[in-house]
Amino acid sequence: MAVREDVRGREALLARYAAERAKRLRADGNAQYVRLDAVLGAAERDPYTAPIARQPVRDHVAFAFIGAGFAGLVTGARLVEAGITDVRLIDKGGDVGGTWYWNRYPGAQCDTASMVYMPLLEETGHMPTEKYAHAPEILEQCRRIARQYGLYDKALFQTEVRGLAWDDAAKRWDITTDRGDRFTASFVGLGTGPLHVAKLPGIPGIADFKGRSFHTSRWDYDYTGGDAEGAAMDRLADKRVAIIGTGATAVQAVPHLARAAAKLHVVQRTPSSVDARNNAPLDPSWFASIATPGWQKRWLRNFTDNQAGGTAREDLVQDGWTDIARRIRAKLVGLPREQLTQAALLDALEASDFEKMDEIRARVDTLVEDEITAAKLKAWYRQLCKRPCFHDTYLQAFNLPSVELVDTDGKGVERITERGFVVGTREYEVDCIIFASGFEVGSGFVERAGFDVVGRDGMTLSQAWAEGMRSLHGTHVHGFPNLFFVQPAQGANLISNVPHNLTEAGETVAAIVRHALDRGAAEVEVTAEAEREWVELLLKAPPTLRGAPDCTPGYYNNEGGEATPAMRLAVGYPAGPSAYFTYLDAWRRSGMFAGLEMR
Ligand code: NDP
Repeated sequence: MAVREDVRGREALLARYAAERAKRLRADGNAQYVRLDAVLGAAERDPYTAPIARQPVRDHVAFAFIGAGFAGLVTGARLVEAGITDVRLIDKGGDVGGTWYWNRYPGAQCDTASMVYMPLLEETGHMPTEKYAHAPEILEQCRRIARQYGLYDKALFQTEVRGLAWDDAAKRWDITTDRGDRFTASFVGLGTGPLHVAKLPGIPGIADFKGRSFHTSRWDYDYTGGDAEGAAMDRLADKRVAIIGTGATAVQAVPHLARAAAKLHVVQRTPSSVDARNNAPLDPSWFASIATPGWQKRWLRNFTDNQAGGTAREDLVQDGWTDIARRIRAKLVGLPREQLTQAALLDALEASDFEKMDEIRARVDTLVEDEITAAKLKAWYRQLCKRPCFHDTYLQAFNLPSVELVDTDGKGVERITERGFVVGTREYEVDCIIFASGFEVGSGFVERAGFDVVGRDGMTLSQAWAEGMRSLHGTHVHGFPNLFFVQPAQGANLISNVPHNLTEAGETVAAIVRHALDRGAAEVEVTAEAEREWVELLLKAPPTLRGAPDCTPGYYNNEGGEATPAMRLAVGYPAGPSAYFTYLDAWRRSGMFAGLEMR
């Protein structure tokens, strides 16, 4: 059987893409997923830190930040630099780190170059050890920031906020938690991150399995052996393991499981596009030569300038993220000015994408020995339909005799039984099922956060955002004074380097709070008009190919369903991330903070 397919020409390729998409469309969309608690129980809450016993807190802080991941850490650091040291981080995890607290699965590492991904490298004096640092080093950077800026002092861990309400008479926020805390804060930041609620596929029988099962963000090293630092998972040597899901997490974990398990079934519904990673250690003498004052800002700027058709002449980072932008530029460079239209840009984008995806599919053939397996590992969609993946050993793992790709032809696992899982007519018996099934995305902010925010005059955030997010800069919401959202949407919306959005927002929040305190203002609030004008401006953004409606289903496009009003508003600055950061810098430096009222 000839399995090396030759899909040539735009129409044939689009037809193939459409057919693969059609296979995967499901009527239940986001409802196909369930939360961890529903299946695995509360025991899965925090496998990394023993329960923390403490008395409830009743006090007042200048600034409370919900979430101790990158958003809370960088905002906290900038506040401290601005002289606001009375900062409290609150997090459901047992330490700082957010995503990097929870995701300790084997092989976890950043997918964006450490030099731009890891926050506050220059401030902390840390040199990343690798081009793409592994998770323990990133978690340690989080701890380093917390230590350096004194953010541990007032932090509350293993604590979930249950209530956040504005007290208009006292001009402060009342905060309650699941630990019986009841305290107040003059200012509050929200940085709970988009991917903090783990989800499981709602496969029939999922609770019946009698072996061990866990989600990748709650890795059970007691069961597997080994540790997050990279020690081999020696307790899997006699185990049959299934990993369900082949997204960015599985791509990093599979090579490690493949080496450790007696038998590994990689259960695939949709293949990821897996480009080369080219990870390498960083050379200290090279680092010393470039790490001159202001280096990280220069690198951040350069990486962002290389995105979304930016205009940078050099490419410091040189990776898969900047590669596509280089290709687009190469296609546009020869065009006369009058032909540089939006349509021409979209054509260049599409042509670059086809070229890139052809290379990625060809790469599978060069690395995977079995032709049938190779064919099944090819991704038939545009690169930005799903999260692009990069790895140097994922595809090669399928050459090991102990590794079997169980491709479900877009349908997913049919059923889970006491002994294993069923795909097609076959039951696969396994000892352990690992769910690499991702995180809740389609739900609203309030649903994921687990609490509503009650602003001025009793208005809740879910009411204010009933038709989707409305803000100035993604940070300020009318009716919610002294509250700041630290997240990417409605700002730069730079997905290739999320921390860059957060460091810019954190710096801005600190500048605003400093200014308000210096002026003796008790309240900072965006005007309704500034918020409306900002949202109107954002809606002028040109269409992008990322998660377009014709994409294969996934969390980028509401599982292939209609874009909800909320999704239509999850956009960025029309002129792109670089222009946004330039704009924001000028807005901040002007000291006017146009659109905000301080009283
Ligand atoms: P994803 O949501 O990307 O992947 C979930 C996987 O589970 C998909 O392959 C999905 O298939 C599969 N799946 C869902 N339901 C079923 C089913 N019923 N049967 C079989 N398979 C099923 O989750 P990840 O944890 O991999 O990644 C989430 C995000 O986290 C990434 O997109 C990325 O943004 C981030 N991340 C970042 C990393 C980094 O920067 N280093 C590393 C890892 C993750 P299908 O595609 O068909 O839906």
